[in-house]
Amino acid sequence: MLITESLWEIMKKEHGYTDEMLVEMIKEIDLKDGRRDGRVLLPPVKCDACGKIIEKGSNRCLYCGNTVDMDLFYR
Ligand SMILES: [Zn+2]
Repeated sequence: MLITESLWEIMKKEHGYTDEMLVEMIKEIDLKDGRRDGRVLLPPVKCDACGKIIEKGSNRCLYCGNTVDMDLFYR
């Protein structure tokens, strides 16, 4: 929470964002999964080489070793 608050203040002081602009950005991010519910639950990522599901927290397929491009904030 301290990190988030610090980043929030930096965005306002150093880059001119307003509270309203930052709240709108949070709403956009919340809607990444199509639901405005305060969390983002994206569907599992499948390996583009073998089609198996990539384990969360990894960008490498356990089955074939293929590396996939993941969203930096995928969770
Ligand atoms: Zn694979």
